[in-house]
Formats: sequence, C-alpha cells, structure tokens
Amino acid sequence: MSRPPDTIAAALRCADLDPVDARVLLQEALGLTHAQLIAHSDRRLSEAEQARFLALTRRRMAGEPIAYILGRREFYGRDFRVTPSVLIPRPDTELLVDLALERMRSLPSPRVLDLGTGSGCIALTLALEAVESSIYAVDASSEALAVATENRAALGVANVTFRHGAWFLPLAGMTFDLIVGNPPYVAEDDPHLAEGDLRFEPRQALAAGLDGLDDLERIIAHAPEHLRPGGWLLLEHGYDQAGTVGALLARVGFEDRFVAPDLAGVPRVSGGRKAP
Ligand code: GLN
Repeated sequence: MSRPPDTIAAALRCADLDPVDARVLLQEALGLTHAQLIAHSDRRLSEAEQARFLALTRRRMAGEPIAYILGRREFYGRDFRVTPSVLIPRPDTELLVDLALERMRSLPSPRVLDLGTGSGCIALTLALEAVESSIYAVDASSEALAVATENRAALGVANVTFRHGAWFLPLAGMTFDLIVGNPPYVAEDDPHLAEGDLRFEPRQALAAGLDGLDDLERIIAHAPEHLRPGGWLLLEHGYDQAGTVGALLARVGFEDRFVAPDLAGVPRVSGGRKAP
C-alpha cells in the first residue's frame, strides 16, 4: 500500500486486502463495530488510526492469519483468545461439540475428557453448555494450556480441569462418560501445511506422521481403558480418514459407530461406543 487511506470508505476499498479482512482490521484499528463503520463511512482517519490500520494490513499481507492478528476467534458464539501456540478454532469443530452435547444431555452429570485442548474451545464450550458436567482437558503444550487457562478465566468457567501431558498420560486410572478430541491429523508432507493460515499454526497441532493417523491411532487404541461401559469416543479427522478411523474403532470393539459430515458435507467426525 503506497499511501494509507484517509477515510473509512477508502480504507474499506483497500485493494491489497480481501474486503472482509479490510473491514475487520479497520474495526480493530478504530475500535468500532461493523454498524458504526457503515454509519460513518465518510469519517476521516487520524494519523494514528491510519498508522494502526497500516500496521495491521502489513501483517495480513505477509500472510499472518486474522485470528492471530486480532488475538481472538469466535467459536460457538463466544470469543476465545488465540495465539500462535494454539490451533485457530474452525467452524467445522462445532459439529464435534454438537455431537458431544447430544450425548451429554442424557446423563445427569457427565464426566468428559477433551484430548489436545489447544485454546480450550471445545472443553470450555461443553462446560458452558452443560453446566452440570465435569470436564478434563489435556494438552502436551504448556504454552497452549496457558492460553486455555486464560480463556477459562475470561469465560468464568468453573467445571474444567486442565492437565499437562500427551494424550492419556496425565490421566492414569481415570475414566469418563465421553471422550472428544480434535487431534493433529494432517499428513506430514501434505502441501496444505505450506499454504495460507496453516503456515502460522503450531505444526504439533496439525501434523501426525506420514499418513496423519499417528495420533488418531494412539487415541483409539487407549480410549477403551479410559471409558466407562457405554461411554462414547468422538474424534474429528481428515476428509479422507473416515474409513480408516471406522476400522480402527471396530478393531478395538467400539459399537454404534457413526460418521458425521461437516458443513461442507465432508465426513469429519467419527465415533463409537464402548460396549455397555
Ligand atoms: N481441519 C484442520 C485443517 O486441515 C486440521 C485440524 C487438525 O489437524 N486437527 O485445516
């Protein structure tokens, strides 16, 4: 961008950015809502506002995800703090939350485990939507747990306990009614890892071995030891992994197996039930 735009309308037309990105970054630079921007589109920007907008724009033009620039992302109707230490919450993952809540509703005070909690978006949403539940959430990254802990405080959640460690390691001897997870499931050599937002996200939260299945396999193999009889395991996975995940679930004896499509119709969450 050669010269910073001097009015709201000019900034919104900023040719270097996608129109939605331009609007969101301008709102951030000015501290205004979408409605306020529209209502005052001929307002002039002060020099400080121009400088702030320009700084945000430069970061976006260098590829940085909007969620990291703003430091937050909405998930299930709530704002979550996000940093480059956590995966950016995706709308697709709201499906996992819906499927978990459906199963939690039939239990008086469900005990739930979220594996690889990242920002905490899944665990904290379940906790807020099902206040009688008690939820454990683990992550191998202490930086991620620091972000999740901030989100727990900001959202005033009392029924989530965080544990530090890989998958089931910090949960010896514990059992749950429901286990959910959005583990890394992208193949290490997948070219998408070198594109768009994924370049900036923690590799540890995205990639899992040559076929992307390393962590899904480990979780499915050990889940039965940590489920009560009749307890559910629900896992998000890649667009082409439903068949393999279903076979892995069958191999360790999961019943009532299902696959659910995401908003784009892609098989995205698979699950099953430990024999009652
Ligand atoms: N759905 C993400 C993506 O491919 C991957 C998330 C994950 O690995 N859990 O962009």
